[in-house]
Amino acid sequence: MRIEGNDGLSGLIATEAETHVAGGFTFTEGPVWVAADGCLLFSDIPGDTIHRWRPGTAGTEVYRHPSRNSNGLTLDHAGNLLACEHSGRRVSRAPYGGPEETLVDRFEGKRLNSPNDIIVHSSGALYFTDPTYGLKGGSGKELGHQGVYRLAPDGTLTLLDDTFTQPNGLAFSPDESLLYVGDSKELIVRRFGVESDGAIDGGEVFVDMRGDGRDGLPDGMKVDEDGRLWTTGAGGVWVVEPDGRLLGVLALPRYPANLAFGGPSFSTLYLTCHADVYAVETAVRGIGPGSR
Ligand code: MG
Repeated sequence: MRIEGNDGLSGLIATEAETHVAGGFTFTEGPVWVAADGCLLFSDIPGDTIHRWRPGTAGTEVYRHPSRNSNGLTLDHAGNLLACEHSGRRVSRAPYGGPEETLVDRFEGKRLNSPNDIIVHSSGALYFTDPTYGLKGGSGKELGHQGVYRLAPDGTLTLLDDTFTQPNGLAFSPDESLLYVGDSKELIVRRFGVESDGAIDGGEVFVDMRGDGRDGLPDGMKVDEDGRLWTTGAGGVWVVEPDGRLLGVLALPRYPANLAFGGPSFSTLYLTCHADVYAVETAVRGIGPGSR
């Protein structure tokens, strides 16, 4: 791992060498730490499988197959696994280790494109993105937009924003007053205010990767307890202060598509990088399901 920029970033990294967690997959995504079971789940999208890895063990086990090409994963407050499914074109919910059911697959009667990533608000509402990456050549597209949605606990689905080209990763600030959403096509991360009723406003460009030129896109992102944004991007993981100042970039052996804090203290950053999954020990405490 190489730390670029280094404007305060090296102080946030405990061990400046990444650990290889697992490999041999096709394209990994959707890492989520399951605190109640002390393990990491992640998707292999083309491999149509969710894998499980336990620290201290070699190799992984199949958690779910087929996964309907699942991508982003998270846990709700009851510990259910939520999965964004590309070929399923839905968000599914399942008790941990149990069978999945459809949570949402349509907006105003039309099929979703291919849900990509998802987060849970303390209210129990789910926020997710619906770009077209899982639609082969765009075939089968029923909606005229690539939306950011909110699914209320009562099942009401609201389109929050339809102005993204390809909305992807998303994260709340620690106090949930802000929502970050990446656009993988426009190479930006936008920041919204979150209103008391769950709607969003604003949406100014918060991180701008246009013109950087390096491989890597704004895709998965997470926030640490101090409010820093850790987002995949050009050249690796961009670490950005709440005021927008870029601290630096963590360059991994391959470009990460997503990342998640985990481990006993939520200080380990797990990164899904194409065929491989890596871990980086940080000096921060990240936010994730069950972290607080
Ligand atoms: Mg994604």
